[in-house]
Amino acid sequence: MLTLNALKGVGPQTLKKLNAAGIFEPEDLISWYPRDYISCEPSVSISDIQEEKMVTVFGHFTRPPVTRKYGGQQVTTGTFTDGTGNLTVNWYHMPYIAASVSDKDLYLRGKAVRKGNRLFLYQPSILKEEQYQEQVNKLMPVYPLKTGLTNKLLCSLVEQCLEHAELIHEYLPAGFRKRYQLAEANYAMKEIHFPDSRHDMLLARKRLVFDEFFFFMLSVRELKEQKHTIPNTYVFDKMEAAERLLGILPYELTSAQKRTVDEIFQDMHSPFVMSRLVQGDVGSGKTVIAVLAMLHAAENGYQSALMAPTEVLAVQHYEAVCDLTAKCGLGFQAILLTGSMTAKQKRMAYNKIESHEADLIIGTHALIQEHVVYDKLALVITDEQHRFGVRQRSVFTEKSDKPHVLVMSATPIPRTLALILYGDLDISVIDELPANRIPIKNCVVNERYLSRAYAFLEKEIKKGHQAYVICAMVEESEQVEAENVLDYAEKLKKALPQNIRIGILHGKMKPKEKNQIMQEFADHQIDLLVSTTVVEVGVNVPNATVMMIENAERFGLSQLHQLRGRVGRGSAQSYCIFMDRSGQESKNERLSVLEKSNDGFFIAAEDLRLRGPGDFYGVRQNGQIQFALADIYTDAVIMKLAKEAADEVYDQTADLSEEEEKVLYELLEQYRSRAEAFDVPL
Ligand code: ADP
Ligand code: MG
Repeated sequence: MLTLNALKGVGPQTLKKLNAAGIFEPEDLISWYPRDYISCEPSVSISDIQEEKMVTVFGHFTRPPVTRKYGGQQVTTGTFTDGTGNLTVNWYHMPYIAASVSDKDLYLRGKAVRKGNRLFLYQPSILKEEQYQEQVNKLMPVYPLKTGLTNKLLCSLVEQCLEHAELIHEYLPAGFRKRYQLAEANYAMKEIHFPDSRHDMLLARKRLVFDEFFFFMLSVRELKEQKHTIPNTYVFDKMEAAERLLGILPYELTSAQKRTVDEIFQDMHSPFVMSRLVQGDVGSGKTVIAVLAMLHAAENGYQSALMAPTEVLAVQHYEAVCDLTAKCGLGFQAILLTGSMTAKQKRMAYNKIESHEADLIIGTHALIQEHVVYDKLALVITDEQHRFGVRQRSVFTEKSDKPHVLVMSATPIPRTLALILYGDLDISVIDELPANRIPIKNCVVNERYLSRAYAFLEKEIKKGHQAYVICAMVEESEQVEAENVLDYAEKLKKALPQNIRIGILHGKMKPKEKNQIMQEFADHQIDLLVSTTVVEVGVNVPNATVMMIENAERFGLSQLHQLRGRVGRGSAQSYCIFMDRSGQESKNERLSVLEKSNDGFFIAAEDLRLRGPGDFYGVRQNGQIQFALADIYTDAVIMKLAKEAADEVYDQTADLSEEEEKVLYELLEQYRSRAEAFDVPL
């Protein structure tokens, strides 16, 4: 058996880094798929350069590049020529690069941009003659990098792994592959890393994407069959709480909410336990539905648990639940359980849960720790389900005698896709926003609008409202992300009047600190919250009316839509400013979809249309079902195929030999654990 240790270039240090990135076995390495490919296009003369394009040029610097400081930026600049024209080359924060540029001719590859009558080349990579010859017209893998791992190292390690044929075995019979037009597994694995051509890469990708969907669907089918056979032993004969709660709400439920509540109650009263996914766009009012179901459990003597993906959300739900139960005068007790509570607080919570003093239990992952013992737990709800894996949910289920399960999600999967993915699992769709909402006003702007954007933030804050500024993640590193937010907050402090209270939130902070900041923001002790995407899920601060998203071009549309869902939650007009920093002159077509619509389903569909089936390396949608390669939007066609194939295998109409079937199901066993990382509502 090949081990990582046996690979050339892997010493104890590198092994540590690989492990830190989640790579433990050679199998992990070969499924560390490239996130992109670079191909070095044949070099062009500077005079022929088209604007806004990646180009490779061959020439030399007229003088050694020099490094200067502009504001906080270190910029290394030089003039590059090939006799047909000149390029101004800029590198940012790379002062050392000047030393690697001799006076010899060399290749530069980067993005050319025309500004005024000057042509710029930004952040180009430097290629020596032999590198250029090796790379020209080839697709070279670009791997997702984690701290300390270089692309070069990963290339070499993957290449070594691929030499060991025993790593990959073909499990699909040839006839089956032919029918679904799938490439052979070993070929696919090699070509996805080191493609001979774009065509080969696409074939390889199709096969691997198919595999991911295929096993996912098979797992779903299996789990579903098990599901609808669990008898419902819970008795819900009291039916008052819901009415009491509806009586004290300051609004009426939308008809979509009513329908969903009906469906949930029907499930809870049916012969089998519920397993339902509630899908509703941000702000569609899912929380109150959860509370209704929980109260229904409580009035019948059962406990219920609501699990949120973050502490901030858990605290917020807890407060909402306390507030609502108190107002309806139902004597049920709610309790909060999160990881950042002290040992003593946790012990008290455990006691109250075990003794059934608490009826409504709200928390984070802490709810599924082994110390928690429930008493008559009849209902389990997970909010914003994509943050939980199936395994976590099943731990939960085992803590009781097969409770009813409700999963709430804002993931805007168009219904057609959801149906393929989840088969006929029960889904309720809340496709209607409360009527009193004033639609958010949106605008996509570029840097030139920055000072006006700041002035607008100031104006809204002066009116007594609050605002968010979201900074994009710069790299896959929480450290850099944090710095980015800190820097940005400093900049804002200088640009805005001193009496505006600015708070900071990012992924490196401890849950306790995050909670505190969110609490202060909710209590209006902070006017402006500068944050990374950690505010993305579920937070509800209705007084916040403006959101400005920096570097909006780096986000997926659906994620932007989730983000902006943090505003527009109260009765005042809300605004969302998308700051496009791509430097493009023309208006970003993708982003302008967000100006046109506030409808998450429409946005997801448009995103799909704009990216087109070929463009699978567009911005990854965050927080959605994550496959290694597959994308539920752009690969919808392959997804359908895989669904067919999975059904065929499951229903035994696939014409497989016994041996072939055995191999398949053995593999399914392995894949099941992987599928657990996905979000099948179970
Ligand atoms: P989400 O579906 O994103 O979880 P929430 O449950 O947080 O949405 O609801 C957002 C806001 O809308 C809350 O302030 C809630 O009180 C309010 N809300 C929910 N349902 C209605 C309704 N039918 N009419 C008016 N406001 C509603
Ligand atoms: Mg919510």
